[in-house]
Amino acid sequence: MKIKDLITSAAGVFMPRTCSVCDKPLALDEKFICRKCLMNIPRTRYEDIDFNPFEQLMAGKVPVERCASYFFYQKGDPYASILHDMKYRNMPTLGRWLAERAARDMKGSHFFDGIDFIIPVPLHYTKLASRGFNQSQYLAQGIANATGLPVIKALKALHEHSTQTHKDAAERLKSTQGMYGASKRYCVELTGKHVLIVDDVVTTGSTLLACATALKDAIPGIKISLFTLAAAQLE
Ligand SMILES: [Zn+2]
Repeated sequence: MKIKDLITSAAGVFMPRTCSVCDKPLALDEKFICRKCLMNIPRTRYEDIDFNPFEQLMAGKVPVERCASYFFYQKGDPYASILHDMKYRNMPTLGRWLAERAARDMKGSHFFDGIDFIIPVPLHYTKLASRGFNQSQYLAQGIANATGLPVIKALKALHEHSTQTHKDAAERLKSTQGMYGASKRYCVELTGKHVLIVDDVVTTGSTLLACATALKDAIPGIKISLFTLAAAQLE
């Protein structure tokens, strides 16, 4: 047994290493998600579909170049626990690792071609203080690791997010309007550039719409694409 493996297995005594999806123990060479669950991840393959459901969701609301998500999730589905673990079980590195993997998987699709910067959806500082990290920042870093693109914090959360869970699409849209702003220090640098806004999930698209609108309003000629790790099954 190598020293690294020994440390990994010793750490497992204190922090059980189980698959985030099926909860079975991980093999020494597995990380976060077991081989079988990774193989069966419900890929959207949106990056290969012209005018995919994510792009349809944004159509007519804000001009976007391309939209993609890595996998589908549904409430209560074992794959939804990836998102839960990432955010609430203090495992943002799971997100970074999976986003890096997603970006590598998607490389053949040219989805990332022509993009200049990656911008994570920001968290309001009060939420950042209570959670300790912004999961979208970790996702952005994972994509950066795979693509070599720079990550910049060009969006600011202006107001605290009220909980979205019990709101319908129209209420969510209203509650997210004006919630984000473009960071002034990047407005000149981003003029005419193509940016990728990154978040953990897309459901109604209201958060991403608010972010994209904030950038469009502040920065002349900016082009926007969107990426989320997961997508609620959109029809
Ligand atoms: Zn598994």
